Amino acid sequence: MSNQLNGSSLTKKVIIGMGLGILIGLAINFSGLNSEGSPLNVWLVSGLFHIVGKMFVNSLKMLVVPLVLFSLICGVCGIGNLKQLGRVGSKSFGLYMMTTAVAIATALVAASIVAPGKGMNAETSANFAGREAPPLSQVLIDIVPGNPIAALANGEMLQVIFFAILLGVSMLMVGKKAQPLVDGVEMLNEVMMKMVDIVMSAAPYAVFCLIAYSVANLGMDLLGELLSYVLVLIGVLLFHLLVTLMLTLKLFSGLNPVMFLRKMRNVQVFAFSTASSNATIPVTLRTVTERLGVNNSVASFTIPFGATINMDGTAIMQGVATVFIANVYNIDLGMGDFLMVIFMAVLASIGTAGVPGVGLIMLSMVFSQVGLPVEGIGLILGVDRLLDMVRTAVNVSGDSVVSCIVAKGEGNFDDEMFNNPAAGLFGKDEIRGSSGD
Ligand code: ASP
Repeated sequence: MSNQLNGSSLTKKVIIGMGLGILIGLAINFSGLNSEGSPLNVWLVSGLFHIVGKMFVNSLKMLVVPLVLFSLICGVCGIGNLKQLGRVGSKSFGLYMMTTAVAIATALVAASIVAPGKGMNAETSANFAGREAPPLSQVLIDIVPGNPIAALANGEMLQVIFFAILLGVSMLMVGKKAQPLVDGVEMLNEVMMKMVDIVMSAAPYAVFCLIAYSVANLGMDLLGELLSYVLVLIGVLLFHLLVTLMLTLKLFSGLNPVMFLRKMRNVQVFAFSTASSNATIPVTLRTVTERLGVNNSVASFTIPFGATINMDGTAIMQGVATVFIANVYNIDLGMGDFLMVIFMAVLASIGTAGVPGVGLIMLSMVFSQVGLPVEGIGLILGVDRLLDMVRTAVNVSGDSVVSCIVAKGEGNFDDEMFNNPAAGLFGKDEIRGSSGD
């Protein structure tokens, strides 16, 4: 297992990297020296920061597909019981839908009370091309990969999940003869986990670069104009994370929310700096299985599944943005519209993967369905990157809460690991290969 003495150093360094990234990014932003073509922009912001950040995000993405494939096959073989597999699937699906619906309902209520955007001018400088929601039938058809290699190559998460489960079930059914294959995949899974640790060793510097780049490029003037929208949104996101999700965790599993939040810090920082639930999968999976105590048989399914279909933070953005833009355009929304928004937002989240900026695409699907002006999204475009970062941190927290609840309910949970603050810390020594197991 992990080295427990040096372990906390990486988390601390990552948080320091994030803090420094914000400071340097702000300094560059306010100095006004970051204009396009300026030496600072060319060499530092769009140069070094951009390159290091992108390389890191790519190395995380590189891990996602093999990690999900191998860990899910191991997970299915680990459960060994098809009935339990069905239960894990239906419980997590139900919880994901429920938390997303609660998230967007909270957002709609809060935004209706505060009424951001009232009296604002509806002139949009940016244009936004919307997208129609795919019909439910297509969403269902797309779950089954016509070509598993293409699914793996394109990182189609639901298709990869489908294929991995079927492969795992078949390996179980073949039984003894397939045992060498099961052992081989288990080995590959362990090797992939080690790769996560190696990539993580670059995290403090990469997080610094990612955040400095984003903050340096933030449109601060827009932030002032859209303050009411930004504040309501961040307020509801925090409420959902700290109150709704933590209450859900406590009520459904009895686990200690403080310990949960403490161990989730790393995952949240990654989600924040990459703005992608998908790219964060390796870190989330590593944290829930080795820090929080969720057995791989549950986590290997719930985490990639959640990264794709569960987006509480994104749903909250859609709720607040709906009310905000309706206010700006002086459109009255009734109860029927609100219910439609909730329904559409939950549906849109199923078919769209957790990658940066996808929330706006989902929002355009919701808008075209309820008849709000899609070009209104252009209004909030300028501040979306920052909000994307915050809501992605909420998205991955929701995935992990559900993973803990399902694992606890299925008896696939290690309470001792959960209650041990030092369990599975990312440590320097581990990366050097002296983990001692
Ligand atoms: N970036 C978010 C995620 O990956 C999705 C979004 O809200 O745009 O979870």
